[in-house]
Amino acid sequence: MNQTLIIVGAGHAGGRAALTLREEGYSGRLILIGDEAHLPYERPPLSKGVLQGSTDLAECSLCDSARLAALGIEHIAGNPASRLDPQHHRLQLADGQWLTYAGLLLATGGRARRLPQEQANVFYLRTHDEALALRNELKPGARLVVVGGGFIGLEVAATARGLGCEVTVLEAGPRLAARALPPMISEALLALHRQQGVDVHLNVALECVHADAVQLVDGQRVPCDLVAVGIGMQPNIELAAAGGLEVGQGIRVDACLRTSAPDIYAAGDVCEFRLGGVYQRQETWRNAEAQGRHAALNLLGKELPFERVPGFWSDQFDWGLHSVGAMTARSVSRALPDGGLLLFCLDTNARLQGAFGWAPGNRAARDIKLCERLITASIALDVASLADADTSLKHLLRG
Ligand SMILES: Cc1cc2nc3c(=O)[nH]c(=O)nc-3n(C[C@H](O)[C@H](O)[C@H](O)COP(=O)(O)OP(=O)(O)OC[C@H]3O[C@@H](n4cnc5c(N)ncnc54)[C@H](O)[C@@H]3O)c2cc1C
Repeated sequence: MNQTLIIVGAGHAGGRAALTLREEGYSGRLILIGDEAHLPYERPPLSKGVLQGSTDLAECSLCDSARLAALGIEHIAGNPASRLDPQHHRLQLADGQWLTYAGLLLATGGRARRLPQEQANVFYLRTHDEALALRNELKPGARLVVVGGGFIGLEVAATARGLGCEVTVLEAGPRLAARALPPMISEALLALHRQQGVDVHLNVALECVHADAVQLVDGQRVPCDLVAVGIGMQPNIELAAAGGLEVGQGIRVDACLRTSAPDIYAAGDVCEFRLGGVYQRQETWRNAEAQGRHAALNLLGKELPFERVPGFWSDQFDWGLHSVGAMTARSVSRALPDGGLLLFCLDTNARLQGAFGWAPGNRAARDIKLCERLITASIALDVASLADADTSLKHLLRG
């Protein structure tokens, strides 16, 4: 019987799954298929250290080639899976070869959503190669327009500003990163960017890009040398969809991350799973890490439901944003002595459902870890204590 396990997508979730399979004692044939030329790597540094020039690809990699070889993980690079045939448990690669699997993980992530118009001065940021291409252009004095005031756009803006570029951010919505952040945190981000000299325009729509300017729908023209586009990502669902798997905004999975086809799992940015009763995808490091690991365990027959509280972080200038859980209609804020803030999102019974921390450096990280424990503990909290910077979160956790 064929016992081969195959992972399609040699990114963060796929790479983590491969390493976990070996850590868990799986000793059969293990193939990791990637379309990029590189070893599996983490993407968060792309808009930070890699763009700045302080981090190289090896520092982002999940492991080196010697480790992959020692673990007997067959990494096929630059040769995407092009066809999936779940009925016969096999898939085809772009070079034509067919591979048969006993279990399959789809961790195909996504690609940067593109403008309809191709233009030489327009850059995207999803892959390491795209980060290097953009970095080459970020010279002191260069005029950069960032399209999209979400996390990637804002991180690019902050890094480019640090490199001495003149930066304008164009956001179509009324506030920054509105999909992921409560208004108070969006405002704090906006204030920091403006204070650092980023020219942020809200409620503006892009008409088109010229070689020396972007044209807005309202007639304004913003002169620039280059444009970085951060308008979201498009999940790579085509392989799964053409193979007959159920897809929505991602590859649909059950509580154990199993797709609609037996023996096929999905993990990471491409995985659409139920959270709080609704199908959604999480485009975060934490999710790729946790689901990659989790899918590996279930490929080995463990049948464990995936139950991790979601969370993410973002670094902009020398400030850090950390978040865990979900936004709710009711929130309480706490001003921190260093100028930062914590925002607690509560349900109607004053139990914590989510939290956001915004502070210099990495300072909010510890508080947000404690918030995760408060969410799991599911205890009703005293609102006045939450707002009071002198009440430690540890104290609240002790009840
Ligand atoms: C610039 C940037 C900055 C980020 N910063 C943060 C941050 O600060 N905090 C945070 O929480 N998250 C951050 N993220 C998000 C985080 O990096 C992603 O959530 C994570 O990389 C998702 O991992 P993944 O394995 O699902 O997808 P990916 O890492 O995208 O890996 C999928 C891989 O599969 C490949 N692939 C696709 N189709 C095929 C095919 N048919 N055959 C073979 N291979 C295929 C893709 O090319 C890719 O290499 C950032 C992302 C980016 C792009």
